[in-house]
Amino acid sequence: MSDLRPVLFVPHGSPMFALQPGAAGAAMSQLAPQLGTPRAIVVISPHWETAVPTVGFATRPSTIHDFGGFDPRLYDMQYPAMGSPEVAALVVTALQQAGLPVAQDAERGLDHGAWIPLRQMFPEANIPVVPLSVQSHLGPAHAYRVGQALAALPQQNIAVIGSGNITHNLRDFMRVSMQGGGTPAYVQAFADWIHQHITQGDVSGLLAYRQQAAGQSAHPTDEHLLPLFTALGAAGEGAQASPFFRGISDHVIAMDGYAFH
Ligand code: ZN
Repeated sequence: MSDLRPVLFVPHGSPMFALQPGAAGAAMSQLAPQLGTPRAIVVISPHWETAVPTVGFATRPSTIHDFGGFDPRLYDMQYPAMGSPEVAALVVTALQQAGLPVAQDAERGLDHGAWIPLRQMFPEANIPVVPLSVQSHLGPAHAYRVGQALAALPQQNIAVIGSGNITHNLRDFMRVSMQGGGTPAYVQAFADWIHQHITQGDVSGLLAYRQQAAGQSAHPTDEHLLPLFTALGAAGEGAQASPFFRGISDHVIAMDGYAFH
């Protein structure tokens, strides 16, 4: 995997993933060293939604515990990575050059969609992290365009990591956790559909994922899939996607993750 680009789509599961990383976590831990030592990581989490792409400039981004009712140990966890105003400025410039509106946030920390996978992959927290928001109201094509705007960054050893989940239906997650029950058919069906289309490089097909019934069931709203499209755009022309993990957690969350070569 020597031609691995420092661009990933990683799952973040439920917040319990931080305590029970399982096989998906092991795959992420194994993958991270293959990225070398990036100068910084630009992380895109669906738990930061804004009107326009917004870049975090905090020099010491806080660890945000943006979830309720989970294991108390989760609230003691910290991910003390530094920020990088210099790399944040590069992100702003890249977005501006692509004609996209962009805003800056001097305070934004790392929400659980950002710090939980980063803690799994880079537990020493020794690589600076720059958070970048998503715009769920603008849909997949916009998320892809944001990624395309960032495509020069991986060539400068700046990693771009989209964090989400290949399936994310909170209603089914709650139903299964309260009442038990098996995995609905759409979960594997949609994970397979994504796998087929992303490994074939079918960008236009992927961006139209909501035309699939399984896609609508897997994502009642877009936001948890949008970082996949941003990673896809950032990987650049000719990038070949391959899964570094495929599997299902909590019956309904597909934990598939993708790397780009
Ligand atoms: Zn999430």
